[in-house]
Amino acid sequence: MRSFDYIVVGAGSAGAVVANRLSENGRHQVLLLEAGPAGYPWTHIPIGFAKMITNPAVNWLYSSEPEASTNDRRLPVPRGRILGGSSAINGLAFVRGQAQDFDGWAQMGNAGWSHADVLPFFRKMERYEAPGDDALRGRDGPLRVTNPPPREPIFQAVIKAAGEVGIPHNPDYNGATQDGIAMSQATIAARQRMSTASCYLDAATRRRPNLTIETGALAERLLLEGTRCTGVRYRVGDAVREAHAGREVIVSGGSINSPQLLELSGIGQPERLQSLGIEVMHALPGVGENLRDHYAPRTRWSVGARGYTNNDRGRGLGLVGQALRYVLRGDGLLASVAAPLRAFVRSREGLEAPDLLLGWVPGLTVAGPSGPKLSAERGMTCYAHPMRPESKGHIHITSADARTPPAITFNFLASPADAELTVTAIRIARRIMTAPAMAPLQIRELAPGPDATTDDAIIDWVKRAGETTYHPIGTCRMGQDPMAVVDARLRVHGITGLRVADASIMPTLTSGNTNAPTIMIGEKAAAMVLEDA
Ligand SMILES: Cc1cc2nc3c(=O)[nH]c(=O)nc-3n(C[C@H](O)[C@H](O)[C@H](O)COP(=O)(O)OP(=O)(O)OC[C@H]3O[C@@H](n4cnc5c(N)ncnc54)[C@H](O)[C@@H]3O)c2cc1C
Repeated sequence: MRSFDYIVVGAGSAGAVVANRLSENGRHQVLLLEAGPAGYPWTHIPIGFAKMITNPAVNWLYSSEPEASTNDRRLPVPRGRILGGSSAINGLAFVRGQAQDFDGWAQMGNAGWSHADVLPFFRKMERYEAPGDDALRGRDGPLRVTNPPPREPIFQAVIKAAGEVGIPHNPDYNGATQDGIAMSQATIAARQRMSTASCYLDAATRRRPNLTIETGALAERLLLEGTRCTGVRYRVGDAVREAHAGREVIVSGGSINSPQLLELSGIGQPERLQSLGIEVMHALPGVGENLRDHYAPRTRWSVGARGYTNNDRGRGLGLVGQALRYVLRGDGLLASVAAPLRAFVRSREGLEAPDLLLGWVPGLTVAGPSGPKLSAERGMTCYAHPMRPESKGHIHITSADARTPPAITFNFLASPADAELTVTAIRIARRIMTAPAMAPLQIRELAPGPDATTDDAIIDWVKRAGETTYHPIGTCRMGQDPMAVVDARLRVHGITGLRVADASIMPTLTSGNTNAPTIMIGEKAAAMVLEDA
């Protein structure tokens, strides 16, 4: 058995960061295990997300259990399975969340997680390449973040339309205030995706003699001696290997796989584990609970006017033009965020901060054999949803075999407040899309459709058509209560030598997308591990 100081399981948004920082000073031997491959060509070109969202070469391709809130549909739950994890396949939008999100975590009793505490890590991780407040934005971190100008007429029209209904343009929603509409800040620079694989596991980092990276390595069990975690058992092809961790194991498998690995290792709800023949090593009832995600219905709009949408620009000769533009100028459709325009809005006056997110895709897509493809019909899509849903689901293993996908149950809309806010978000989307500035585009609502006027009709459509925006969190929740899985230093309650560091530790959803806060969690986790060493 080989020995290391630290073993990091999962090289995703958080795990790649942890492995980088723990191996940075050269004093510690670090093993990074990643189930997926070391690379894949489509990870570099931003538009590649459309090629990877249904691609088993780089994606776990989970799906949820059928439930009433999804009209018994199984929703796709894509997750990156490659160096860089979901940061290597995601939609490339960069959103930190609100100061209130982190202050809320601290108020729940998680010392060290207030906005003032996490801001230094947000600044440390990024190299923000646009004008901004230097007290809030980082300028020399590993992750390049850009803020593209609203060049396309379709974005200019929506920004103007939002202004007409009282939503101002805010050029830096990751700065002092989140309110308003803006082009999505992007983990894209020099026409390339900025994943944690490319930014934190660059060639120089990979050459560090004290960092061992094993890809194609599926962690199947944590090795436990009583309540101490001493290493990891993992599978590479047909070979089963073990590695010993002298100091700690850090599980960074993401919100689906981290609770799965704890349960496979006998840490979780005793009855559930026993029913699968797994020896209970430590009872921890919160493992796999508190699952939250953004249930985000995509409203669909027909655009009568030519030349505005990706359906014109991304097909046939238009696509050739976009390819040339990408090669010559490094921008356009191929170098774009999945939802290039977004608005953070308030459902009502008197709120301290925005509670709804709207995101625009300047095209209509249909399912194709290898992922979504642009439809023949010209149009645009606007998703609209509450940012901090209260509804909670769970993820649990159904087998003692690590290769069996866990069961994912979301319980969307279980909270009436979530349903109410979803309706409000869709109504605000309608107000923007039908504002005077949109007139030149000759807009017509396709879905939910002009007949869906009552709240009930809108929710009925949401159940039939809603999807997530792929932001599962919270399944190894941080906290001090009996249902918490890790403490504020991300140590698994009741087990020594074991932490979880990824999106699963978030107690609540942050206000927006989850890649940036997860990278922050990786930075902060590594700092805490080093402090505790
Ligand atoms: C399609 C898609 C689009 C998204 N779009 C955006 C966006 O535009 N902006 C945004 O901010 N967020 C977006 N997100 C969400 C964001 O990317 C995730 O929240 C974030 O990457 C989660 O990071 P993580 O470290 O928790 O997990 P991951 O990044 O998923 O990393 C987990 C890693 O662990 C590995 N692993 C898991 N289990 C094991 C095991 N047993 N053994 C070995 N390795 C293992 C996995 O293969 C993976 O590489 C998107 C996500 C997806 C999937």
